[in-house]
Amino acid sequence: MGRYDESKKSSGAKGKKFGHAGRVEDPYRPEEGQEASICTSCNALYQNKRWFFDEKLAQRLGGTQKVRQVVCPTCRKIKDQYPEGFLTLSGSFLAERKEEILTLIKNEASRVSSRNVLDRVIKMTEEGKDKLVVETTTEKLAQRLGRAVYRAYKGELDFRWSEMNRFVRVYWSR
Ligand SMILES: [Zn+2]
Repeated sequence: MGRYDESKKSSGAKGKKFGHAGRVEDPYRPEEGQEASICTSCNALYQNKRWFFDEKLAQRLGGTQKVRQVVCPTCRKIKDQYPEGFLTLSGSFLAERKEEILTLIKNEASRVSSRNVLDRVIKMTEEGKDKLVVETTTEKLAQRLGRAVYRAYKGELDFRWSEMNRFVRVYWSR
């Protein structure tokens, strides 16, 4: 867990549990005199301990001395295949309507990801005709996607947290 020391983990209840509270080192902080840090992979910006997208600012700062080049925690998780959320969809209804359900998941994921740098789908894997596994960088996104499918199609929705709350598994079936 220490590998991905996001600000949410050093301040939240979870951070306390793992003894991260009070840790002040911030690997993404811009250098003295710089305005922001920028992710060289997804162009996300980091200022005041917060990640966000701002195309105009990224364009203005990109390649200048005013910005520090880093790789954001989300891109690192994707590169290292380090999911914190798993959504498993299964059932004969899924098999019948797979394209439609995939589209719904992709749309919801891109809507969330465009607003929040931390939430991204790592990969989607089809396991046979009637099973699909979606891996996400955050627990929150896996839950959101599961809820979105449930809202649209009903079925069964179940959340299971791992021991130590390191990640969540969300199951939807119909
Ligand atoms: Zn990034």
